[in-house]
Amino acid sequence: MKSSYFFLFGLMLLLLVVGCQPAVTAVVPPPITALPAHPGVPAAITLASPPPSSAHPGNIAAITPSPPHLLTPSPQPPTAVPTSTHTPTPPNTATPTQTPTATPVGPCANRILADDDLWAIVTQNYGLSRDYAPTDLVSLNDHLGNDVTLGYPIELRAMVIAPLVQMISDMLAAGLKPQVLSGYRSWSAQSIAYNKWASEFPGHVNIISAPPGYSEHQLGTTIDFGSPELPLYTGDPNLQFHTYFYKTNEGIWLLANAHRYGFTLSWPLETFELTGFYYEPWHYRYVGIEMATMLKEQGLSLTQYQLVNQPEPCVP
Ligand SMILES: [Zn+2]
Repeated sequence: MKSSYFFLFGLMLLLLVVGCQPAVTAVVPPPITALPAHPGVPAAITLASPPPSSAHPGNIAAITPSPPHLLTPSPQPPTAVPTSTHTPTPPNTATPTQTPTATPVGPCANRILADDDLWAIVTQNYGLSRDYAPTDLVSLNDHLGNDVTLGYPIELRAMVIAPLVQMISDMLAAGLKPQVLSGYRSWSAQSIAYNKWASEFPGHVNIISAPPGYSEHQLGTTIDFGSPELPLYTGDPNLQFHTYFYKTNEGIWLLANAHRYGFTLSWPLETFELTGFYYEPWHYRYVGIEMATMLKEQGLSLTQYQLVNQPEPCVP
């Protein structure tokens, strides 16, 4: 008990230093040997590679064998799921051939998003402007107890709150103990976190953390979940993020059910070639129930959908 007090005290001290990046020293890079399926991947990712053609759009056919029309969400949303106040516009179902490249796009560093853009692509190739911050951020701590947030100050965009609170409520009712460890991170907060990781783990920083501008957390719709079961699998009570999250009951439940609340797993297995990110079974992004359910039913990641169905948003 006493050691856990020390641990929590240490966490709060760290929060003072790094803002909303929780417990950074409590996290260590996931050992490559623990990654289920990335043999031979490079130890670090550089922004200069892979070249744009490797991600968009040259290898789309190999990634998504389904023809584009199969990517269209079902017009009927699932029943008996919580509703969101957000009403997304229909997905852009234009095929690449229907999307002329005449519209000039600038560098990703200049990409400013509209706040209603729930499906903006973010990968290690497609970044966000340092000037982008959502205008409708609210505190999650007003809606969930410290047993879930562990007391970390967490902000998310307004439309994410109700679906997330409903999902957490249903998980608690099912006997689970979900934790919400991280939400919105500003460009500068991500920069601080990234630089901290870079100084501590210079050879692995791009495995641990996205560079500023290349994190979905800047969107304000992305959440990192935790589980009190994780130490049972890692043997380390200080680890909050590890690929073994997929073994926990919370991880299992989220993988099976998060889409019913509008959340999708951003970086699933085998995502590296496409996104530059390694498997992160704890990292979910809100995209709306309709989109999340379509992705789940089609077995697609959001990135796979975006690369086929969305015009190229910027020049990597
Ligand atoms: Zn994350």
